[in-house]
Amino acid sequence: MKLANLDGRLVITDGERAVDVERASDGVFGADPQGVYERWDDFVAWAASIDPSSGDAFESTQLGAPVPRPAQVFAIGINYAEHAAEAGYPSDSMPVTFTKFPACLTGPAATVVLPSEFVDWEVELVVVIAKRAFHVSRADAWGYVAGYTIGQDLSERHVQLEGSKPQFSLGKSYTGFGPTGPWLVTTDEFADPADLDIRCGINGETLQHSRTSSMIYDIPELVARLSAVCALLPGDIIFSGTPSGIGNARTPKRFIGASDVLVSSIEGIGSITTRFTSAGSD
Ligand code: ZN
Repeated sequence: MKLANLDGRLVITDGERAVDVERASDGVFGADPQGVYERWDDFVAWAASIDPSSGDAFESTQLGAPVPRPAQVFAIGINYAEHAAEAGYPSDSMPVTFTKFPACLTGPAATVVLPSEFVDWEVELVVVIAKRAFHVSRADAWGYVAGYTIGQDLSERHVQLEGSKPQFSLGKSYTGFGPTGPWLVTTDEFADPADLDIRCGINGETLQHSRTSSMIYDIPELVARLSAVCALLPGDIIFSGTPSGIGNARTPKRFIGASDVLVSSIEGIGSITTRFTSAGSD
């Protein structure tokens, strides 16, 4: 099943057509895309009877962030071995964890204002939490995952790295720095949800390309280790880390320019397209 945010309303989609959840359920389930996780199991059982191809056609520009207002946004640094090497970090005993403050989230067709000339790309698999998870074992972890969407962990490298102490959360939370979408895909849709092609590129040039099976801490391990510390809440999201190929690790360094078009893709989900504008140009 694919769930999307169409003009602010929760829909079930096949990627081309969409069924409005509130209308199709006669109000049993609400229109708010964030609210569905409060009754996830009931919703999944009801949604099995819905055929999205019977719905209405839509334009991709109508799509917003599939999970627009998570209570908590976890983000994992240094979670692919080859990215750990390029960034100069040893892999650690706990995942490197920070937050992207939720107001930075935006949708799959966003135009983002560049706050500086040091903004970098990081394509990431984003995990959506289905139900409250606290002290969940690795073996039970998949039962707490609703599905996946695509994310870009856009990062302003000077704020993140150049001060006397790193400022991961601030440097990655400028307005629009969390493009996500185009929809949530439930994990049952993937032949192997632990091994997906992941890539991004600018203006047609591939800059990152890996597989999610290369993660140091895979999705069950992230759910187990994060929930050992904090309760993960229904509708929370986890940016699960980026592969190698970021601009800050290149020689010379490379960052996003105002006319660049950034396309981020994950196998079995689709792609999102992020455009940019400079601060003075609008
Ligand atoms: Zn990241």
